[in-house]
Parts: sequence; structure tokens; C-alpha cells
Amino acid sequence: MADVSPMMGQYLEIKKNNPDTIIFFRLGDFYEMFYDDAEEVSKVLELTLTSRAAGNNERAPMCGIPFHSADSYLARLVEKGYKIAICEQLEDPKLTKGLVKRDIVRVITKGSVIESSMLDESKNNYLSSICFLSSSCGICFIDVSTGVLNLTTFKGKGFEKKVVSELGVYSPSEILLNSEAADCAALSSFINNRLQASCELLDDEYYSFDSAFKECVLLFGKEKLDSLALSDDKLAVLTIGSALKYLKFLYKTDVLNINDINVFTDGQFMKLDFSTKRNLEIIETMRSGEKKGSLLWVLDKTSTAMGKRLLRSWLEKPLINLVQISKRQNAVDALFHDSITLDQLHEELKSVFDIERLVTRIVLETANAKDLNSLRQTLEHVPEIKNRLKNFKSGYLKSLESQIDILSDVHDLIDASINPDAPFSLRDGDLIKRGFNAELDELIDIQKGGKHLLSKLEAAEKERTGIPKLRIGFNKVFGYYIEVTNSYKSMVPENYIRKQTLTNAERYITEELKEHENKVLGAQERSVKLEFELFSQIRSKIASQCTRLQLTASALAAVDVLTSLALAAIENNYICPVITDKPVIDIKSGRHPVVELMLTDSLFVPNDTYLDCDENRTAIITGPNMAGKSTYMRQVALICLMAQIGSFVPAESATLGIVDNIFTRVGASDDLASGQSTFMVEMSEVSNIIKSATKNSLIILDEVGRGTSTFDGMSIARGCLEYINDKRKIGAKTLFSTHYHELTELENEIQGVKNYNISVKKRGDSIIFLRKIVRGKAAGSYGLEVAKLAGLPSSVINRAKSILASLEDENNRSVLALSDTEGVDAYSDMPSSLSLTSTVDDRIIDELKNIDTDTLTPLEALTMLNDLVNKARSNGEF
Ligand code: ADP
Repeated sequence: MADVSPMMGQYLEIKKNNPDTIIFFRLGDFYEMFYDDAEEVSKVLELTLTSRAAGNNERAPMCGIPFHSADSYLARLVEKGYKIAICEQLEDPKLTKGLVKRDIVRVITKGSVIESSMLDESKNNYLSSICFLSSSCGICFIDVSTGVLNLTTFKGKGFEKKVVSELGVYSPSEILLNSEAADCAALSSFINNRLQASCELLDDEYYSFDSAFKECVLLFGKEKLDSLALSDDKLAVLTIGSALKYLKFLYKTDVLNINDINVFTDGQFMKLDFSTKRNLEIIETMRSGEKKGSLLWVLDKTSTAMGKRLLRSWLEKPLINLVQISKRQNAVDALFHDSITLDQLHEELKSVFDIERLVTRIVLETANAKDLNSLRQTLEHVPEIKNRLKNFKSGYLKSLESQIDILSDVHDLIDASINPDAPFSLRDGDLIKRGFNAELDELIDIQKGGKHLLSKLEAAEKERTGIPKLRIGFNKVFGYYIEVTNSYKSMVPENYIRKQTLTNAERYITEELKEHENKVLGAQERSVKLEFELFSQIRSKIASQCTRLQLTASALAAVDVLTSLALAAIENNYICPVITDKPVIDIKSGRHPVVELMLTDSLFVPNDTYLDCDENRTAIITGPNMAGKSTYMRQVALICLMAQIGSFVPAESATLGIVDNIFTRVGASDDLASGQSTFMVEMSEVSNIIKSATKNSLIILDEVGRGTSTFDGMSIARGCLEYINDKRKIGAKTLFSTHYHELTELENEIQGVKNYNISVKKRGDSIIFLRKIVRGKAAGSYGLEVAKLAGLPSSVINRAKSILASLEDENNRSVLALSDTEGVDAYSDMPSSLSLTSTVDDRIIDELKNIDTDTLTPLEALTMLNDLVNKARSNGEF
């Protein structure tokens, strides 16, 4: 290092201490990156890679970005999972001789961003900390941007699976692990294959109990830890403490905007594993990952970003406690029945900014004057919102009303101090209103008075010298000057000192002007500094009120979500379900909340559902493809889920027992990302269901066994069904769709199974979908009819028909016996008497049928005939 230039030496020292971080090294108006960082970043951001002299006649690869537009570059790097250290100049280069002091002022990672430009306002951005200790685990989820911390611990058998399931619910964007957690194969595999999260293996020093405990006490106070019974909970303390230490390292600060710990326990919320969340398209669609077409899309009528995030988290964590569900439901019901107040609240809430994230920026000292103005504007509407809630009788709305603090002190402070048109930058003045601070007013007066004085001086000099074209001006390099065009140069008095020569004019300075310059420029410099100081004081005064602000923010978010649910219920004609502690799902005329809105040229056909823990545990649903089996099964799951977040549901009436889990195994979705085959994925999902479901779960199994040969598949399907239906084993409420019509025999063989089918009407060669679910098994599978509807050529259909006839013939001769035929592929024994040439004949006939002789020219007719003759003779390739 002795050979490199001093600046490069400084860089290399900083890089040495932060090897896994991209260093944004501030040089004047640029952030520059060097060596490997430069090569990497220039590729990712498509920047030009150049070089900078590094001393000793060597050049360091280099790329740079202007500091004022760094945000967009940072956002792209952070999104890709890079960790970036911002290394600033800590001294003013103008006032420093030699090397300017530099150091890292913040490290930015995916899970710790607080800048609104880098965040999606509609979802929380979680940093998760996972700590394994023998056979137990602590896991917490922190959203630094909103100050939320959720914590839980798992102990004993199967704790790894529970951790994975929580990760699936929260989808954190960054995960901190201790070494024991990093060694867990199931955890790593889930993180790598399912989440787009960056991972950080923290050093052992983060997991010293004493230091972790100190971090927790510093932030929350010993009383809070005691009140949550966390002081002696080693696992909890290590999990939170390590995360806090990491965050402080990132922000280079001791202040964090996290004031509370939400301890949640296993079994407090409905379990929705990762694939169920995906399969039911709760947050986004499976195919395109878009919000449109998801349940969230249907229910989201929120007006604020905070409401959007909260609705999403309610959907991801439905309740399982009857009292809590009723509390929300009553609030939605109250709003539903007062549509005038509902609309007013909805409108008022539109003026509410994202206070949760604003407060974090205020506390972490990155908020600017525009942010404070947004807070002021929001607070102007809060009293009205609070007022409108006063008339409601619902206990929950009442408690939210009292939680809302109108914060008039904060409003008045901003109103009195911050210029409503203040710029983004905090370093250019114009932040503080006149009348707020006497010293500042005086400095501004000097600057303003200065302008007046200048025009007086200009007039006086014109008169004194007799030069009509004399002008006083200012530029940043030379300061104030008197400009005289060349034609009047001879009239310039002696006390004018020449400063600058232009082509057609000369610029001068006088003693008087110099004095004036010092006064005005001094005042300007001082006022900008003072404005920043005043602004910082105001900001920290508001920061000291962060708990009140956060409580108000969370109450407003909840009001927004309840309003949204009431609006969705009115708009979509939902009803309030009866939630019961009895194990029953009784839905009359239920509808699929999303499909009913997506249908454009037909009406949605409602259907009933009845499931209980007794005679109606399992519904086997048959019916042709496209009949509506998946839609029906998902509809039942979605109605249960909606009810358990407190929402109304799409039905005529519904009495719903609480389900602890919804499990789904839907369709044959390949999971190429995890490198598993369709069948492997299917079986591991089913195995997970069988291991985790309880009698209070709702299970949706869509064509289980389809991924393998017919008899294998049918046997697996039957095995699973028997196991799940068995009260001694699981006895869960189950909807089971299948193409294996043989399984409908189970209705007569085991208790609790009922057959249903989605009815269709056969008309000639075609079928009409009636979409109505009825008791009993389907009359047939109608595969050929559906294939025809899908547009398969009639030649193929005809050919399939003859194969089918022949297979059925064979089948009649050898009665299906499961035990004898296990593992045999039904199609491997294709009857050999069926010759393929018939396909060619059919195709020729098809072509002949399609010829329009009225429009054919003689030449075209001849060519076509010739073609057909050749095809007929070739007797094979078509
Ligand atoms: P299956 O699972 O039986 O193959 P789907 O559930 O995928 O069938 O349904 C196929 C299509 O039928 C859906 O995309 C939807 O457009 C329509 N559909 C399903 N159920 C209904 C219904 N109850 N009313 C109206 N259209 C429906």
C-alpha cells in the first residue's frame, strides 16, 4: 500500500474493512468505484469502465456516478442484492489541506432501505433474523421503514419446518443467520429456491448474550423486555439483539425507529404455506405474478400506502380466534351499513401520506422539508377522520378512534416553521418560514436589503461617472462587479479596480462594492447554515413524538383496511358470514371472488358447499376438464380465508367454523426453479399436507396422482384420501377433485365421503357446461368432447374415439383390479390391430371437406388434386 497514492491508500484501507461491500467512494460531485467493484458495477449498471491513476504509475479500473443522481443507481444495485457502503467526505475539501477525511456513513442493503424511491409502498420490506440454538429457533421480522418488529420462537421437533413456513408468510428480502441456522439444509434450500432474499451469515460476536441483551435494553428498556418475559429468553434476545446490532452497523447510528416488539406465537394465525398462498392466488396470480386477478386485487379499495400494506398482511395471516375475527367483522359491518360515512372516510384517507415511513425517515434524520410538509398536510385531515369515527358503536372502531392522536402540536410546529414550498435539498436554504426565527429573518433582510442597496449604488455610479451603460452584476467566480462597455472605458474613474476583461466590456470592483459583497455573501452563507440547523432541531422535536405518530399511523391504516373491506363488500354484493366454533363449512350460493369479476361474457353460477367433521368430511368431485372443479374448490378456500380476516364473503349465506390451516395441492405446476420434477413436487406437497394437517384444517386436493401412470396415480390418490379422511389419523375437511372415476366407489366403502360432480349436458357430440355442483358422480369424463371444444382437428378426435372404443372393449374383458395392475401404464398395452393409416384417410377427407369449389380457379383445382393424390399414395407422412 506504500506505493499507491494517498487517496487510493485511503480507499484500500476502507475496502479492506468491508470486503463484501461495494464502496461508493465520494470524490467531489461523484461517487467512484475502483478495481473489482468498478468492473462488477460497470457491468451491472452498464457504465463506462475507465481508470484512475493509483500511484506508482499504475491505474485502477474505475467507474463513477454523479452523486445527485445516485439514488436510481443505488436502487438498481440494492434490488439485485448488492450491499453498498456510502463513503463520504467528512471535511470540506475547500478548507482542507492534503487528503480529505473520508469514512462510511451508511451501508445500504435490500432489507434495510428506507428511501421511498427504493421501496414498494404496497408491501412491507422485511429483514429477518434467524437464530438456531440446539433444537430450537428464534425468528424475527423487522421492517425498518415502518418500525415494525415481529418475533417468535419455536422449540422441539419439527421447528425447522415452522421456520420455513414463517419465511413463506413474510417473504423477507434479507435474512440474517447464525452459523447453526446456515447449516440447516431445509432452510437453505427454501431460501435459495423460493425467496428472492439476500443472506448474511453473521459472525459469532453478534451472538454473545451480553451484547445482544445490551442492544435490546438500549432500544426497548428493561421493563418492556420484562413485561414481554423476554429478559431471560436467550433465544429471543439473541435473535433480536443480533439484528439490532447489524442495523446499527448499517446505519452507523444508535437511534433506530423500532419501539415495540410484537411477540407472536405458533398457532396465533391461520397457517398458509408458501404453495397455498401461491395456489390460491391471494396476493398475486400464479402465472404472471400480477396483482390483478388475485384476491388482494378484489379486496383492495384502500386509500393509503399504510392500508395497502396492512391489508396484505391480514391476507397473509388470517386469524383463528373467534373473538378477534368478530371484532374486525363488526367493524366492517358497521361501516357497511353507513355508506355515507364510509365514503367520507375513504375520501379523507386519500390525503393521508405514508406516516409510518415518514416517521422512520424523521427519526433516522433523512427526512427533508417536503416530508415534513406531507406530514403537516396529513395532520390537517386527521381530526376529521377521528371525528367521523366517533358515531360508530363497534368496539374496534371506537378503540381506533381513541388511538388516533390529532397531534396538533406537531402540526402547529411544522405549520409555523416550514416553508410550504421548500425544496428537496436541505443545503440551499428556503426551508424555514419568515417570522419563525428572528436571527434568520435578519440575515434574510440583509440579503434582500442588499439587492435594494445594489440598485441604488448602480444609479449613483451612473450619475457620478456619467456612463449610461454601467451595470452591477454578480457571478459565482468573480463575485460582484461593475460592468462598463468598451466604448465608455475612458470614462471609468480611478477608484475602479479591473477584475475581468470581456470582448466588448470590462468588469471592475470598488472598495464599497467589496464591502457590500462580504456582507451579503456572509449573510447568505450564515442563513443557509442556520436554516439547516433550525430544520434539524424541528425534525428531532418531531422525532421525539414518534410513538404517538406511529400509534396514529397504525390506527389510520386499520381504518383504511376496514373501510376497504366494507367498500369491496358493497361493490361486490358480499354478505357477513356467521363465524361459529362448530366444525362446519356451510355455504349457500357461494361464488369465487376473483373469477366472478373476470368473467366478461357469461354469468358466474353460484354453488353450495357443506362440509363437517362427520358424515361430510370429504367431497370427491368429478366432472370433465373445464367444468369448474378447481374454481369451486378454490372458492370454498377463499371464502373461508376471507371470513377469517374479518371480511364479508361472496355468498347468499355462510356459516363457517374456523379452520386452522388451508392446504392446497393444485394442478401440475412444475417447479423448475427447485430442480424437482412435477411428480416430486406433487408428492412432497402431499406429504407435507399429510404430516401437518389437523382435523380443523381445510384441504384442497386437485387431481392428486396425475403426475404418474394411471394405476400408480390412482393408488396414491386413494391412499392419501383414506388417510386424510380417517378420523384417527387426520379427519380434515377435504375437497378432492379427480379424474379417477373409480375413486367414487369410496362413498360406499368409507364413512365421511360424499360424491359430487359439476354437471354438464351432452348435446350430440358436444357438451354444455352447467357449472352447477350436484350430488353423485359424473356420468363420464367427456375428454373427447372437451378436446373438440378446444379445437382439436376432427381427424384426431375421430381417431381418439376409435382408440377409446377399443380400449373400453379390452377393459370390459379384463376387469380392473387395483392390486393386480399396480404400476402398469394403461396405454403401454395399446391394441395393435388399430392401423395408423386411417389417420391419413381422415385428413384427406378433412381437406376435401374444406375445399370451396366456387372460388377455385382451374389451375388451383389441378394443383390441389395433384397434391391430394400424392398424399394418398405416400400413405404415411402427411
Ligand atoms: P376444471 O378444474 O374442472 O378443469 P376450472 O375450474 O378450471 O375447471 O374452470 C374452467 C373455467 O370455467 C374457469 O376459468 C371459468 O371461466 C369457468 N367457470 C368455472 N366455474 C364457473 C362458475 N361457477 N360459473 C361460471 N363460470 C365458471
